[in-house]
Amino acid sequence: MVTTHNLGFPRIGAKRELKFALEDYWKGNLSQSQLEDTGALLRQRHWQHQSQLDFVPVGDFSFYDQVLDMSFLLGNIPARVRQHEGNTLDNYFRVARGRSAQDTACHCVHAGEMTKWFDTNYHYIVPEFDATTAFSLDVSRLLNQIRQAATLGVTAKPVIIGPVSYLWLGKTKDASDKLALLPKLLPVYAQLLDTLAAEGVEWVQIDEPILVTELDPAWQQAFTTAYQALAPRKLKLLLTTYFGDLQENLSLACALPVDGIHIDAINARHELERLQTLLPDSMVLSLGVINGRNIWKTDLHATLEWLEPIHRVLQSRLWIAPSCSLLHVPVDLRSENKLASHIQYWLAFAQQKLDELHILAQALNKGRVSVQDALVANSAAINSRKTSPLVHNPAVKAAVANINASLGQRLSTYEQRAKKQSACLQLPAFPTTTIGSFPQTPEIRQARSRYRLGQLDETSYKTFMQNEIARCVQEQEALDLDVFVHGEAERNDMVEYFGEQLDGYAFSEFGWVQSYGSRCVKPPILFGDIQRPKPMTVDWIKFAQSLTDKPMKGMLTGPVTILNWSFVRDDQPRSVSCYQLALAIRQEVLDLEKSGVRIIQIDEAALREGLPLRRTEWDSYLRWAVESFRIAANGVSDETQIHTHMCYSEFNDIIASIAAMDADVITIETSRSDMELLDAFDHFSYPNEIGPGVYDIHSPNIPAQEHIVQLMRKAAERIPTERLWVNPDCGLKTRSWEEVIPALRNMVTAAKQLRQAA
Ligand code: GLN
Ligand code: ZN
Repeated sequence: MVTTHNLGFPRIGAKRELKFALEDYWKGNLSQSQLEDTGALLRQRHWQHQSQLDFVPVGDFSFYDQVLDMSFLLGNIPARVRQHEGNTLDNYFRVARGRSAQDTACHCVHAGEMTKWFDTNYHYIVPEFDATTAFSLDVSRLLNQIRQAATLGVTAKPVIIGPVSYLWLGKTKDASDKLALLPKLLPVYAQLLDTLAAEGVEWVQIDEPILVTELDPAWQQAFTTAYQALAPRKLKLLLTTYFGDLQENLSLACALPVDGIHIDAINARHELERLQTLLPDSMVLSLGVINGRNIWKTDLHATLEWLEPIHRVLQSRLWIAPSCSLLHVPVDLRSENKLASHIQYWLAFAQQKLDELHILAQALNKGRVSVQDALVANSAAINSRKTSPLVHNPAVKAAVANINASLGQRLSTYEQRAKKQSACLQLPAFPTTTIGSFPQTPEIRQARSRYRLGQLDETSYKTFMQNEIARCVQEQEALDLDVFVHGEAERNDMVEYFGEQLDGYAFSEFGWVQSYGSRCVKPPILFGDIQRPKPMTVDWIKFAQSLTDKPMKGMLTGPVTILNWSFVRDDQPRSVSCYQLALAIRQEVLDLEKSGVRIIQIDEAALREGLPLRRTEWDSYLRWAVESFRIAANGVSDETQIHTHMCYSEFNDIIASIAAMDADVITIETSRSDMELLDAFDHFSYPNEIGPGVYDIHSPNIPAQEHIVQLMRKAAERIPTERLWVNPDCGLKTRSWEEVIPALRNMVTAAKQLRQAA
């Protein structure tokens, strides 16, 4: 008999109940016990949804983040918070977000750093360490959940992060070696396992996802040390990996004294043979057979074809599960009412993925005939997607097949283009511009949503947006900026706006996925070959340009960013989807150019996010990502100036690729780093123009003119002044006009001061 289990369930709730409860609690509109009740209710509901499983994850539910939960469980709480009175939950939120419910400003502490969870769009709170960090067990939160599960008759498998990954995920604040903390950490883990065993727990899922990354020998050794130290114990450990294959860490993992290993069989299928020879007979093998990162139905027939032989060998030593926690997919497809039925037919959210797992288990345990109807229905859905003309567009496939290097190549070198561009644009030194969006006021949001609901007709909507554009242009005239933007009032989101106008995209109503804390994103679903039926932005930009003599930037999102912020196809490589997007954006670029737009910005905010987990795979990703940008951007004439924008400042390790994109101008986020991050561009002798952000748009503070001048002087130490632009860090959509006007006024005056001094 095969055993079924799950690694984690989305905690946010099918209708984002947890989000709303948390935000009410933080505002002081919900008591702590009401918040706890919501949590208990959601857990109960989610366990019910998982009741067909042999083991149900417990402890995966969190009020903010599972890594922060682990820090509290291990008593690793930053000193700045420990001084606070009050209860643990409030201190927990202080680390998570700088303040808890009803904290007045003076109670604020700085929030813990947040960073991406491996290659997902989930962000965790980074554990903080220094040489003196001590650990002490506080298992109350986990025990509460285990006891709640027990009263509901749930067979609980507590989920924790393993000691080696926990250390690896954190940061030392004093440059000490965090691995040196392992001997202090292990006794607390031992105590934790004892406590869980005393509670009657049989299996613990111990997550060590860093096993899918390249590890130094010291970190590999830490695994052996740690698991030997935890070896004499009264319960069983399922060492759990996900998001990738183990490669050189596979034999290490199989040699650890644990009772079972979980492997992501979506990403590590090719390792299963090696794994079976390495795996000791005493160990259980758990295979992640359902993709926990996408929203597609599993091809159950194809899965059984390779899974049945493994089952015949391993028998009851085989466990099956989704590849990773289902945290990364939406909760329940049955909530959707507006998705086209033929697309809905191809999809599976968390709930449906568990149903698929159940079917697989029955097919293994009782034979395929026992679930014949379900298998036939699954095959029909899979085949319908494979052959649907909505998915497959021969013209698009042919266009991708015809891509050659010349498509991404500008006609002349940057030096030659720069001369022509400066002759026709006539910009001053230190030209000023903004990144694209201006404040998205409640009126703008309301107009968009009324239009969507059919309460505002097309003509009134257009007039409203044109008035907004006109206002935006007037303000920029008054500020005396050099290169204008139209303000992006018509855009809800920089990816969704384009996805909605491209063939091959679908949008869910409740397909929310937690990004961090109470924040969720609803990634659009890229299901088919991408085609642009008609221009997407040209009318708005043409209108904006008609209002001013200053150059108006055409404003687009780049192919790599659209890809990285979508659920993508599993029936073709990411690179192919990216090339298709690139060809669609290229058409838009050429149409903008044709209509007289002289500067076109193509945002690649998420280029860095797509970097694979293993460095050895970076090159191949960067190659097609950069090529996609080049295809989108570089079909223009020499006189057309291409800008790109990236919302971060870590360029050291990808600077050659950034240069290869060959944008005439790149604007980046630098204001908080004091321009030091321009060093990467300096050392590389980055050849094109750069606009280092001088205004931190994440803060309500108004940057002073002198501060901007200072920052630009620092920039000028690294980049020749004739290649410098002056601009904010990012778009201004989250700010108010009251903040934006004085800030930009200071920015423009600073640029003028720099010109005079030059
Ligand atoms: N053009 C977009 C804006 O200004 C860019 C946003 C982003 O980079 N995240 O809002
Ligand atoms: Zn940005």
